Amino acid sequence: MPGGKRGGRKKGKRGGGMNGEQAGALRAVQEWVFLGNGRDWLGGSLEIDDGFNVARKKSGGGGLGEKMVFELHCHSTCSDGFLSPTKVVERAYENGVKVLALTDHDTMSGIPEALVAARRLGVKIIPGVEISTMFSPSDDPEAEEPVHILAYYSSCGPMRPGELEDFLASIRDGRYARAHNMISKLNGLKMPVKWEHVARIAGKGVAPGRVHIARAMFEAGHIENLKQAFSRYLYDKGPAYSKGSEPLAEDAIKMIRNTGGVAVLAHPWALKNPAIVTRKLKEAGLHGMEVYRCDGKLTAYSDLADASGLLKIGGSDFHGKGKNSESSLGSVNMPVTVLHDFLKLARPIWRDAIRNTLEQYIAEPSEAKLEEITRFRRTRTCSGSSCRNELISACVSSWLTEEEMRNPEFEAVASKLQESLRVVPIETR
Ligand SMILES: [Zn+2]
Ligand SMILES: [Zn+2]
Repeated sequence: MPGGKRGGRKKGKRGGGMNGEQAGALRAVQEWVFLGNGRDWLGGSLEIDDGFNVARKKSGGGGLGEKMVFELHCHSTCSDGFLSPTKVVERAYENGVKVLALTDHDTMSGIPEALVAARRLGVKIIPGVEISTMFSPSDDPEAEEPVHILAYYSSCGPMRPGELEDFLASIRDGRYARAHNMISKLNGLKMPVKWEHVARIAGKGVAPGRVHIARAMFEAGHIENLKQAFSRYLYDKGPAYSKGSEPLAEDAIKMIRNTGGVAVLAHPWALKNPAIVTRKLKEAGLHGMEVYRCDGKLTAYSDLADASGLLKIGGSDFHGKGKNSESSLGSVNMPVTVLHDFLKLARPIWRDAIRNTLEQYIAEPSEAKLEEITRFRRTRTCSGSSCRNELISACVSSWLTEEEMRNPEFEAVASKLQESLRVVPIETR
């Protein structure tokens, strides 16, 4: 192997200390990150330069010296984060993040806004979501605990997005009911908190969570700090705690797999029984788990992942709280071989999902379906029927290599698409 095991010859900042395996992984990761750039899968003119593509640095960009920073776990105001999706992307960009997965709790509503900002700055967005679930094994009721599952999708988003959206909507509805419950418990504890107050803190359309209630308690003067709200009242099974109606973790994993996503267990260090959870969820089809944090790889969880044959990744779980103690966006340093492993697992899943989504459209070409496929990539210059080809091309070419696009299966989809896109009258739907 070139470079060999030693590979430690320092060459300054440019790829210094990289062995052959790492250099190969970096090249593969870079190839995927920088996909797109004006290619047109469907033939014809790709006139929109929508800039969805990550720009290589002008001078010597894309060389071995350019670090590939992935941020795979963060939140915006669309759930319990403090920064808007735009601000999250801007902050990530400032921190050198090239690929960002926005993973709000139980909603993907921030993705379109994140994409607009990402387009401007040249950051690649992986549409993501963090799903609140309950691990509740029938053979061991004592082992029940809440579990968060991250889902990562392709540029076309989830296949059959309606199914996922219904699934997420019912979790969000459950959160409203739960918040009402916790508020009435607080009122019973002589700590009156108004629903309107909590709802205002959560923001329009955001399903309120414990942190929003804690802030309302703080603002109402019932507690001295947010921590106290949790340590005294809102902790799991605490006096003001209320259980949500989360789906089973296994069902969420099934849903993620069925809609073309990659399913990853979030922050296993927050679990009571990480060993049982990982084993059972691996059986249910879990792809990976978080083991990297900004303080490095956690050996115990890494071993657990290895024992279960799970992919190992990580993310900052940034919420924008503005505290020094919080990990910043892009602060989790994942070796390039880890990013490569992530993409090796995810890309075939995404590729099949993209093909499947496009085949669904071919089988039933309607503007509504097209909206679904391209809803994450509206642009100012191009929306809906006026440039269907371009939108679909942009989705495909930012995610698939030339080779993947030119394989016979995709070629067949392309030629059918060209036909159907020509046939569908613009007025449809
Ligand atoms: Zn979480
Ligand atoms: Zn999170």
